[in-house]
Amino acid sequence: MFDTHMHTKFSTDSKMKIEEVIYKIKKYNLGAIITEHVDLNYKDSSLFRIDPDDYFKSYSSYRTDKLLLGVEIGMSNKFSHEYENLITNYSFDYVIGSLHEMYDIDLFEADELYKSKSKKELYEEYFAQMVSCINEHPFIDSLGHIDYICRYAKYEDTEIYYEDYKESIEEVLKTIIDKGIAMELNARRLGDKEVVNNLLKIYARYYELGGRFITIGSDAHTSEAIGSHFNIANDMAELCNLKMIYFKDRKMELVR
Ligand SMILES: [Zn+2]
Ligand SMILES: [Zn+2]
Repeated sequence: MFDTHMHTKFSTDSKMKIEEVIYKIKKYNLGAIITEHVDLNYKDSSLFRIDPDDYFKSYSSYRTDKLLLGVEIGMSNKFSHEYENLITNYSFDYVIGSLHEMYDIDLFEADELYKSKSKKELYEEYFAQMVSCINEHPFIDSLGHIDYICRYAKYEDTEIYYEDYKESIEEVLKTIIDKGIAMELNARRLGDKEVVNNLLKIYARYYELGGRFITIGSDAHTSEAIGSHFNIANDMAELCNLKMIYFKDRKMELVR
């Protein structure tokens, strides 16, 4: 399998060394794509950005068919042109498009937002913003963690129940399918059976609407997390009839 989502020391929130990635993927016989954070809208402009020259200079000697160099962009309609320039000017293998912020606040520190809006209201807006961002960033390869908000929202129950947001979620799924963008299955929360059951409904619907391709990523920020819950992710892909893929040189490759 290929772990298509992980962060090393070029990401503000990770200290992982590339040597740790190499050790781990050899041990588990995995392929890996490093996907450092670039969040151009993050309020502190010294954080969550990379120096792409430094990134490629430091890592290009480690690059192989099994260790690829990508990026995770924090989609923001204010910066879509800058993102497009970044990925056309540098030879990334893979681009994840993620929604990390709403109203210019990153969702991991949006306590005010969670206080000021009901879960239903905010989650509807979250999916609507996702659709709008995908339309503004049609050049991404895969849509990152559709369930990102569940990690950090401050409601009694932060889960996304497909039935509660059916139309909004379908709009997201139809938009990526229409643009030929793959969907990520982010393995980070798959240790919880409830989460798996809820996500399965979304991925099954993705298939029904015509979606076929998923990227599996651990979103590891430490080497312990690389490849974690991949057996569950693999089962979920099979259950939903979805093909696991990764990207090399911005081209889709089938896993296996
Ligand atoms: Zn992310
Ligand atoms: Zn990430």
